[in-house]
Amino acid sequence: MATTSRIQVFDTTLRDGEQAPGFSMTAAEKLRLAQQLDRLGVDIIEAGFPISSEGDFEAVRTIANAVRRPVIAGLARAIPADIDRAWAALAEAARPRIHVFLATSDIHLEHKLRITRGQCLAQVAAAVAHAKAYCPDVEFSAEDATRTELDFLCAIAEAAVIAGATTINLPDTVGYALPTDIEKMFRIVAQRIGDRAVLSAHCHNDLGLAVANSLAAVQAGARQVECTINGIGERAGNASLEEIVMALEVRADALPHRTSIHTQALVPTSNTLSSIVGIAVPPNKAIVGANAFAHEAGIHQDGMLKHELTYEIMRPESVGAPGTRLVLGKHSGMRGLDARCRALGYRLRQPELERLYVKVTALADRTKSVEDEQLAAIIRDELAAQMAVGAAASAGSGRH
Ligand SMILES: [Zn+2]
Repeated sequence: MATTSRIQVFDTTLRDGEQAPGFSMTAAEKLRLAQQLDRLGVDIIEAGFPISSEGDFEAVRTIANAVRRPVIAGLARAIPADIDRAWAALAEAARPRIHVFLATSDIHLEHKLRITRGQCLAQVAAAVAHAKAYCPDVEFSAEDATRTELDFLCAIAEAAVIAGATTINLPDTVGYALPTDIEKMFRIVAQRIGDRAVLSAHCHNDLGLAVANSLAAVQAGARQVECTINGIGERAGNASLEEIVMALEVRADALPHRTSIHTQALVPTSNTLSSIVGIAVPPNKAIVGANAFAHEAGIHQDGMLKHELTYEIMRPESVGAPGTRLVLGKHSGMRGLDARCRALGYRLRQPELERLYVKVTALADRTKSVEDEQLAAIIRDELAAQMAVGAAASAGSGRH
């Protein structure tokens, strides 16, 4: 039997997530989110990219001073000025980490950095050693790792480890890899590095594969996943933290790995981020979307009322969602309607329920869904009509 291992959750909502258009946050907002990430139980918070702006530097410094349990990471390119600036922001942290990155694929070396592979190797070793002189906890990221030739990627990882890196991150920067590619890359680099450093995944969602790729990395030896709340991030976003964590929870039978995340804080954390940036998640978003635990179809509502495991693989309470919602719409059935009536305090007899059902589905055809207040009003009308009929019948019988 496979042994259970701990997966470090590295949250980069405040760095990669915040870089996405429309998601920028003030230093005060970043601190508020960092405190919520602390309550959520993430292991590492990447608080920002200190050299990128004065505001980012201040945000990282403020978070490093105020949030003391998790590791606080600051990003730096593989150049001394960036690393010095990152350290200046992180120096007061209880558990600082300098996160150095350099692209390693030929596409980036030739067209962006205009350096040779040999120069790249030397720059990685020098930059990691520079960071290590400040801080024992150094992460190195090989940007565009998934489009880097594997032998060269192994040489880069080896050089970074020898220079003192304690975490080696292999990002799918452009969201290009398939789970099988990721698995192969992690297995080969893991063979080369052994237990000298923690391997980390950082997957982008350009093909909608970020979570699947992160899980493939874990299965091939990664023990850190980099992810964001609501999956925000550059372009199509990063791997979504809530989806990775709940996949590991719900499928513990196949994925024997644990995280330190308090899952009941997932929906509250998603809401905190949405309220700060003013952008809601789509209703069909896994785990945290408004429809994640909503059922409208009659067959599904009937199943859910008999046993919740029929159509739910996790309980809404386990992720901090308000609860299962049986939505009354044109696809709903009689049992769902009966359950909603009972929840509102009305116990209707079968003929009453049938008449009500006709009215409710007619309304739902026009309005998409029927809210509790609308349903209560229709029930009151129906009951009033019944009483009127009853009164007329007994008055009529009195005359004879
Ligand atoms: Zn990224």
